[in-house]
Amino acid sequence: MNWKRTLGLDNLSEEYAFARNESTGYTSVKKIPDHWIPTTCGYCSVGCGIEIGVKDGRAVASRPFALHPVNRGKLCPKGLSEHYIIDTDNRAKYPLLRKGGKLVRVGWDEALSVMVERFRTTQAEYGAESLGVLSTGQLVTEEFYTLGKLVQLGFGTNNYDGNTTLCMASAVSGYKISFGSDGPPGAYEDMERADVVLLIGANLADNHPILCQYLEANRNKTLIVADPRVSKTAMMADIHLPLKPRSDLALLNGIAYILIRYNLVDRDYVEKHATGFADLERLLEGYTPERVAEITGLSQEAIFKTALLYGRAKAGFIGWTMGVNHSTLGTATVNAICNLALLTGNIGRAGAAPFSITGQCNAMGTREAGFASSLPGYRKFESATDRAELASIWGVDESRLPAKRGLAYPDIVEAAVAKKIRALWIIATNPLVSYPNQDVLQHGLSNLDFLVVQDGYHPTPTTELADLVLPAAIWGEKEGTYTNSERRVSKVNKAVEPPGEARSDFDIFLSIAERLGCRDELYPGWTTVEDAFNEWRCVSQGRLCDYSGISYGLLAEHGAVQWPLPEGADPSVTSRLYTDGRFQTPDGRARFVCADWAPFPEQPGGNYPFVLNTGRTVEHWHTRTKTREVPILERLSPRAWLEMNPRDAKVLGLRSHDSVDVVSRRGRVRGVELRLTEITAPGQVFMPFHFAETNVNEVTQDAFDPISREPNYKQCAVRVERGANA
Ligand code: SF4
Repeated sequence: MNWKRTLGLDNLSEEYAFARNESTGYTSVKKIPDHWIPTTCGYCSVGCGIEIGVKDGRAVASRPFALHPVNRGKLCPKGLSEHYIIDTDNRAKYPLLRKGGKLVRVGWDEALSVMVERFRTTQAEYGAESLGVLSTGQLVTEEFYTLGKLVQLGFGTNNYDGNTTLCMASAVSGYKISFGSDGPPGAYEDMERADVVLLIGANLADNHPILCQYLEANRNKTLIVADPRVSKTAMMADIHLPLKPRSDLALLNGIAYILIRYNLVDRDYVEKHATGFADLERLLEGYTPERVAEITGLSQEAIFKTALLYGRAKAGFIGWTMGVNHSTLGTATVNAICNLALLTGNIGRAGAAPFSITGQCNAMGTREAGFASSLPGYRKFESATDRAELASIWGVDESRLPAKRGLAYPDIVEAAVAKKIRALWIIATNPLVSYPNQDVLQHGLSNLDFLVVQDGYHPTPTTELADLVLPAAIWGEKEGTYTNSERRVSKVNKAVEPPGEARSDFDIFLSIAERLGCRDELYPGWTTVEDAFNEWRCVSQGRLCDYSGISYGLLAEHGAVQWPLPEGADPSVTSRLYTDGRFQTPDGRARFVCADWAPFPEQPGGNYPFVLNTGRTVEHWHTRTKTREVPILERLSPRAWLEMNPRDAKVLGLRSHDSVDVVSRRGRVRGVELRLTEITAPGQVFMPFHFAETNVNEVTQDAFDPISREPNYKQCAVRVERGANA
């Protein structure tokens, strides 16, 4: 017992001492750092510069990195509280191996030996491709590059994909088809320089909040937001287009129809830089304003107004995120966006871009340097020239490089259900919350002979199922680079040591390579992530995503720089792709793509009368593994909710804050708090996807884009019932 405290003699003055600090003002002494470490935010792809305040070896504060070119001294609520994610009770600290049905602590030697031995015996028995790997957009680029080599050349399987397929694979596929390569062509600055900004399926205010300052800085623009919900971003718009769910492709084709009919096509640009116009024109004959109005539920006037504004803009910017990507028509919709940009020549100029705003902090890094949907450096699996070039840089036999992409994420899950994938390695992702139709996933995972989960946190719903848990360092505990949505490469720095025996993913990959006996061949002389970065620079040289002029020194000097940056190029100039109208296709011309609209796969009706839309909220990050540990964010948004229009609630006899169940043909989410709001239109309901306890993915549909394999998270048919505990 503390007698001084009991007698009232100890007033905890040290515990509650405050002092003035030049950066944070009057602050608790415990939160005044000894020093600040500059780094890059580890949540979303905006890529804000941030500084971690460190006191006595612990992260105690976060503040904007004032010199960083992206966020200009601001952070969103997640960034401002990011240091809280490091020192939490649910960090994975030691390797854990399942013995006698329980996860027990083991040493790294045993953990990695068992992992390599189990993977090898599985592959020996069932074939190399019986091993699958699911990675993430959370690692640093150097780790993606290292992991890709390890999986493809070390373990010899190409059944390798990442959670990025759940997020922006349709943007990747769409860019590849339209322009011959992945790579967002524009820059954030374009939002400031456009006279028309069309955001489609993009709720920046919740999901990429710092980008809103680029919109706000542009006082002369017309902002058009196409979204079935009156999202926070829609509330900022000059024109909100509340289109019916999944009618965006019809809207885009309808705009293209009007552009052609009203002679708003840049004929010179089209003739010089694109092919396929005649076919597109034929397809668009079916997208008259009358028909598009019927499909979208918008007035013909609104469709005309949008088309004329975009068509007459000196610089037109179209941004999109998951509202477009999360669909069986995601790739086609991206192609339709690119069609509009090509028709009007709105690409490769200041303010003019078809711009995919991506999801995770380093989704772009894995697109460029990873080995999942492309060979490193946007090389194509199917190109013998690309494979030969890469093999020659690495000094390996060309036959070791796969000539086709392996299974994509949902196909890995299906292969596990079919017992073709027998061992799985999941890295820094939590599919037991994030994957659609959880029932199928759980079936697949339960079929595995061996499941390894490498993560910074334990327990998570996914680590709890693992046979082996490898504890990894997270943001703030390791070094490398992230690339953001505008192709800007930014340094990630270590501020504190990882907890317990957790190691950086990079160190884990090298240790596995050591046991596989391929470390010297694949990573000759490597000891640091900078070694990986320097090799990656060479691999990217001469490619669209050329990093050869970027070094850690340059990043320290400039804060962050955009690719392509060939050696000797000026890092301070805003970079855009396709400024010369030459694309990454064999003939240098972009492709018009005939992207035809179709209704979404599971229409509402009968027992399932509502269309369920899913999405995010500003306070949380993906499966909430991190943000549930941040007190202020958790207090702001502690539980899931279901948004419903009051007119529907009246019919069902439901009231605000009632506890309801959401039911689909696949499952039931119990005990969700009902919110009545006009934000959501009658016939639709919306639920955030962050919450494991009330997981919307119990009811979402496992329907996928046929090209990108991205899930159709955004629409499925549900009914809403009063919950048992209402
Ligand atoms: S906008 Fe994104 S990158 Fe910037 S602070 Fe917020 S979460 Fe981090």
